[in-house]
Amino acid sequence: MLKYLSMAGERILVVEDEKKISDIIKSYLERDGFTVTVAGTGEEALHRIKDGFDLIILDLMLPDIEGESICSSLREFSDIPLIMLTAKSSEDDRIKGLGLGADDYVVKPFSPRELVARVKAQLRRTKRDEKKILSFNGGLLKIDTLSMTVRKAGTPLPLTATEFRILLLLAEKPQIVFSRLQIVNAVQGYDFEGYDRVIDAHIKNIRHKIEDNPQKPVFLKTVYGAGYKFIGTPD
Ligand code: CA
Repeated sequence: MLKYLSMAGERILVVEDEKKISDIIKSYLERDGFTVTVAGTGEEALHRIKDGFDLIILDLMLPDIEGESICSSLREFSDIPLIMLTAKSSEDDRIKGLGLGADDYVVKPFSPRELVARVKAQLRRTKRDEKKILSFNGGLLKIDTLSMTVRKAGTPLPLTATEFRILLLLAEKPQIVFSRLQIVNAVQGYDFEGYDRVIDAHIKNIRHKIEDNPQKPVFLKTVYGAGYKFIGTPD
């Protein structure tokens, strides 16, 4: 399992009027390397938001402005990841919160560790969405995840949709070995008899398109008895 190392210093705004709770959230997040600012009122939150944060944890029960209003005014100008924190736990309330533009919803009483895990999940998701072009080996190979195109030294390569999905799956996690079963499940959503040979055939095709010498691949490496891994170097 890869450790997620690049979180350090990301800025979190915690909007919560109960000091006991904000203190706990702050200490858990800081222990994981986050920089935390606490706002005790809705007004302060709206003022602070403009300072630029990577994520907001917003309590719905605030003394001055309702968390719901903060959320909807925030969404008029920002798509920052937002986790709602509340005692309201009915399904209607959750759906309403998500409808207002919250990305996730944590019900009190909550486990601080779970909250931290959700913060990390949101930040990972944001990072992945932002990363639209993966580039390897000094720009030699570029994978554009939005237009689903692959370029080698600037020239577009004619990969099929399935080939593209396999390449992206592996390239998103360089050096991680994927078994043929993992690949077929990720790409097809199910496996079928003979899938291993089908995956081998796809890999062979991809290699012919992206490698200078498919016999000596510099991107897609066979790991005998295990599967395949992507060995390009991310730029
Ligand atoms: Ca509160």
